[in-house]
Amino acid sequence: MKERIKLIKPYITFEEISSELEEVFNSGQLTKGPHVAKFIKSLTDYTGSSYAIPMTSATTALTMCLKVLGIKKGDKVAISDFSFPATANVVEDVEATPIFIDVDKNTYNMCVEDLRSKLDDKVKAVIFVDALGNPSGIDEIKSVCEEFGIPLIEDSACAIGSSVNGVKVGSIADLTCFSFHPRKLLTTGEGGAILTNNHEYASWLEMKANHGASGLRGKVFDFVDFGYNYRMSEIQALMGWKQIVKLDDITGRRNLIAKKYAQGLQPLGMKRQEATEGIYHNIQSLVFTVPETIKRDDLIEYLAEHNIESTLGTYCMSGTTFYSKKYNTIQPIAQWLENHTITLPCYDGVDLQRVISVITSFFYLNRKK
Ligand SMILES: *Cc1c(COP(=O)(O)O)cnc(C)c1O
Repeated sequence: MKERIKLIKPYITFEEISSELEEVFNSGQLTKGPHVAKFIKSLTDYTGSSYAIPMTSATTALTMCLKVLGIKKGDKVAISDFSFPATANVVEDVEATPIFIDVDKNTYNMCVEDLRSKLDDKVKAVIFVDALGNPSGIDEIKSVCEEFGIPLIEDSACAIGSSVNGVKVGSIADLTCFSFHPRKLLTTGEGGAILTNNHEYASWLEMKANHGASGLRGKVFDFVDFGYNYRMSEIQALMGWKQIVKLDDITGRRNLIAKKYAQGLQPLGMKRQEATEGIYHNIQSLVFTVPETIKRDDLIEYLAEHNIESTLGTYCMSGTTFYSKKYNTIQPIAQWLENHTITLPCYDGVDLQRVISVITSFFYLNRKK
């Protein structure tokens, strides 16, 4: 059996951080120190956003975005339906109602016409998802939000490093959330961040993420509100900073690999997720749709038999057991994409010729049947 081809590979090694890591341990300062400050600055420098607030995950980040906007019971939040379920879960968590918006079959992102048709006075926020890191269509959605005066949250859990007409994701929507989970391009083990240009949002979020403390009362912390602990440690921040400085090189190389894959797979009728004009996609995940004649699950299984990892694109949230039972409103294109997309291994050194030839032989066997 040939060597296993894994689906993902982190872009950080122990060697890269070992000496600074040793300094962190020797200093005894494991949180709220210089590495967190440095990582925050690198996030604002890199994205062009005015403020960055580290969080424990994209999920906590999204929840706090809904809270800073005052979203509550009785409100509706319109969300892209093709995403990891966390995007819908945060809406449930603040007791609001998710309104599932179907997506475009080529970009996999929120469909602007479907959003327009579902807007009403109760929709108090929109969460646009950069599906698999692709921000295509955010501009049109932003215009609609501005037209109706609805705040826009960008679930950019997968999209750090992507941009729209040269503007990096992180400074486009009113609030943007990143994830630093190991499945994402930049990882701190677990972690996330909120980016915003709004000073009031930023100071409220910083205070809430730090037990409700803001400034001093005499010589001690002033607790001006109740709060949470959503801070990041020095070790995580060090990991994050080490990767952000090389992120553009990483996404550039992933784009080259993606292009080679597409050349090999398009003749089979496999179609790559599309980035529209002016969009730079970080290729957080390399996703193709398979033709209707091919059973996607059988293809994943066949690849696994050849020691190659792959998985589906992502989920149709409205079709999950919980959301379909509660709301009974499955979005057809999102559901189609959940059933017909496949994510392939995409990183430096991946043996893509082997992946392509295994997929080609699967298609060949299928046609013979
Ligand atoms: C991964 C992901 C999340 C959740 O991120 P965590 O940091 O694991 O909480 C949310 N939304 C999308 C689109 C994701 O891909």
